[in-house]
Amino acid sequence: MDSKPVRNTMLPYGRQWVDDDDIEAVVRVLKSDFLTQGPAIERFERKVARYVGARYAIAFSNGTMALHGACFSAGISTGDEVITSPITFLASSNCVLYMGGTPVFADIKADTWNLDPLEVKKKITPNTKAIIPVDFTGQPVEMERIMEIAETHDLVVIHDAAHSLGASYGNQKVGILGHMTMFSFHPVKGITSGEGGIIVTDNETYYRKLQLFRNHGLTKNVALMEDNDGPWYYEMHELGYNCRMTDLQAALGDSQMNKLDLFVERRREIANLYTEAFSDMPGLVTPYQADTANSAWHLYVVRWSTESFRVSRKEIFEALRSENIGVHVHYIPVYRQPYYKRLGYSSENCPEAEAYYREAITLPLFPSMTDQDIRNVISAVHKVYYMFVRQLD
Ligand SMILES: *Cc1c(COP(=O)(O)O)cnc(C)c1O
Repeated sequence: MDSKPVRNTMLPYGRQWVDDDDIEAVVRVLKSDFLTQGPAIERFERKVARYVGARYAIAFSNGTMALHGACFSAGISTGDEVITSPITFLASSNCVLYMGGTPVFADIKADTWNLDPLEVKKKITPNTKAIIPVDFTGQPVEMERIMEIAETHDLVVIHDAAHSLGASYGNQKVGILGHMTMFSFHPVKGITSGEGGIIVTDNETYYRKLQLFRNHGLTKNVALMEDNDGPWYYEMHELGYNCRMTDLQAALGDSQMNKLDLFVERRREIANLYTEAFSDMPGLVTPYQADTANSAWHLYVVRWSTESFRVSRKEIFEALRSENIGVHVHYIPVYRQPYYKRLGYSSENCPEAEAYYREAITLPLFPSMTDQDIRNVISAVHKVYYMFVRQLD
């Protein structure tokens, strides 16, 4: 066995692609009159809305605040239960806690690793108010079935599409499949604005609430005000926050939107190369590929089936890191977090999420990877696989 690592420096699992056009767009804002609350925000919102085919888009300081705003607009409050996946980033359920609601975790499907509609049904009670399905890794969740359940039980669907900007579902872009949909622009996500998030929706009531949430609950819209003392007058109608996006962020996001389809295409190309290279390796499970949806390939996760290897996932992970491949694990089931345990959560009857967590490793995947980077990842996976796979006799 060759003991020299396949690379000399660590390849990250994800990183942004920022080019001269992006830099010029931000510099133009710096030289303009408005650093925040200027024209760049609305331009960015319109561009995202048009791309996904939504009537409204409203940008936030980050995706977490966008989800918080969506829960606020949906009227989530104390006693309300909201069903989401345990295999997600903390924000998908923390947004429910911010509103005093109770996150409820439903198990994932063994093949797609997304929320299982049958498990969602099992967790519905008279207190259920909403569902937050997540397009984990960029692979669209079965929204048609989620929406059917939501209609039957009169639930609001807040689609956490932080991973799936640019993905499609049927012949539609992921965007307005639920009542409100969130995209994140953190640097590891599909496109970046530094920090940033957005909600798209077709619902005007939610849109108005989101506007109030973003800016202290203030309105200057005369039609909505109770009084009008003069031109200076404004009214506070809700306890909102300041979670506005700046024009600097919006200009970057706007410029990045021009490259979104290119980014997704490159991600898909790399994912296909991986899947092909790992096809003859029993025990190594590559990601699900739906016939009816196109993933945005935010993450490429492989599962190392426990019974097929002589060592645990931890040792496999460390071996890949020793090859200077910046692997990661997405995600630790949220209910395992100490904070959630203190709230009374335990395994939440999610055996598929537990099994997934024992076996998952995220490989590097980002559009600016070179062909050599891709070959390095493939070589390292092959090397570690043959080092640890149980020999069948
Ligand atoms: C990144 C992410 C978020 C939160 O977005 P931020 O912009 O980082 O606040 C929410 N949900 C999921 C699934 C994410 O991956």
